[in-house]
Amino acid sequence: MSPTVASNPGRRARHNLCNLGSRSCFFILCLFLAFPTPSSQASALGKRDLVHLSSSALSSIIAHPDPVKNIDSTNPSSHLSKILIPRVPDTENNTAVRQYIVSTLTQLNWHIEEDSFTDSTPYGEKRFTNVIATKDPRAPRRVIVAAHFDSKFFSTFPQNQFVGATDSAAPCAFMLDLAEALNPMLDKRLRRITRRDDEDDDDDDDDDDDEDEDDDLMDTTLQFVFFDGEEAFKDWTATDSIYGARHLAQKWATTHVQPNAKRRLLPLKQINEIAGIEQLILLDLLGSVRPLIRSSFSSTGWLFDAMVSAETRLAEMGAFVYDGDGATTKDKWTSFFMPRTGLANLGFIEDDHIPFLRLGVDILHVIANPFPTVWHTIKDDASALDIPTMRRWNLILRVLMCEYLGLRVEDLEDKRSPTNGRSHSELVSLAITGIGRIAHRSVVHHHNPWSFPALSALSLSVVKHTSRYHAQDGVGIVYLPKASEE
Ligand SMILES: [Zn+2]
Repeated sequence: MSPTVASNPGRRARHNLCNLGSRSCFFILCLFLAFPTPSSQASALGKRDLVHLSSSALSSIIAHPDPVKNIDSTNPSSHLSKILIPRVPDTENNTAVRQYIVSTLTQLNWHIEEDSFTDSTPYGEKRFTNVIATKDPRAPRRVIVAAHFDSKFFSTFPQNQFVGATDSAAPCAFMLDLAEALNPMLDKRLRRITRRDDEDDDDDDDDDDDEDEDDDLMDTTLQFVFFDGEEAFKDWTATDSIYGARHLAQKWATTHVQPNAKRRLLPLKQINEIAGIEQLILLDLLGSVRPLIRSSFSSTGWLFDAMVSAETRLAEMGAFVYDGDGATTKDKWTSFFMPRTGLANLGFIEDDHIPFLRLGVDILHVIANPFPTVWHTIKDDASALDIPTMRRWNLILRVLMCEYLGLRVEDLEDKRSPTNGRSHSELVSLAITGIGRIAHRSVVHHHNPWSFPALSALSLSVVKHTSRYHAQDGVGIVYLPKASEE
């Protein structure tokens, strides 16, 4: 991550943020001007009600895989250890880390796209490659979990040994842990979807699974984006930063999606890859002890709350107690999250989400604020990481994404009794029905927060997701019911 703006600049001194590599702090004010329609005035963008896992389901998904093994830097074969090397873009180390991520997810049967491109940097042309891993590339919608896998460039020793443990080796390791934890459930769901699609071909629709599974949830897949080139080579500017995110956002905004009859996505007009994003959950600067996470955008306040809820329920069942650590018992634990006040934050931190935000994507920015004290120093190494903290992140992410996707934890045990065969998603009531509204955001940004005449305004359209309809810039994409549903 980088420069930056405190969500609440007055709360803490931010002198550490502007002392290394990034002098120009961009202040960004985000104004949300929503124009609710009568059918959806109470709903935030993309909001859906998540069904809580039962306590036995919680116990199940936090136990396997071992939530420490993937983030244990003392084990040279852990995911974290494989990532925790200097990995500046366009270097052999960067390629090695990328290949490790790709091979790990390929073995779990994820679809991989490597998005390679060149861009000019203060040190000349550099090659960058984002990794996009998708469980079900045929799904019309996706929830994205993302982090950057590059590390910041420093020209001299010893700073050039910078490994960016919190920035963002640890978040990348959390994502690989999440893939491993959810994979059996995602695989089983994919098999049910394939069977459903095949049965649609045969006009045979009396399988119980089809009745159990919620079509709306099945149409959403999990996607990971590992951004390259997040860091500025020199000073953070609009052109020296977030190389990978800027490239991918532009690419997706101009990549049209082919209609997929199997998934009943029948666009009235061609849509692009951006329109299929339900949420972008961006992880950054995580892994050190006692992070403080704030809700950055009112549009994803509900998703922030869902993450807080996952943490609370896990804490109350004693899931964070680790290695005799008495500070995480259900009576003594403290939250990673700052409660929402109901007021939208007026500023946010620049990061890989910015190009997607400008295209109207809903963002959940999970970043420690204030930044870890080791930020952009050689001390951001394994010693900056805290195992119980990282273990807690793994558990929170497993629960949140399991509930978001409506996965069946009973699939982990590979058994289904007649009574528990009903899906979790059956209990879901989708909060939003009817035609989606179009909301407009205006984002203004400027270099000097006190120089308002310098403001420039951008009007942004926002994709609105509902259970059955999408609308973007007046273009409707309607999910038509199958004949068998009528
Ligand atoms: Zn950074």
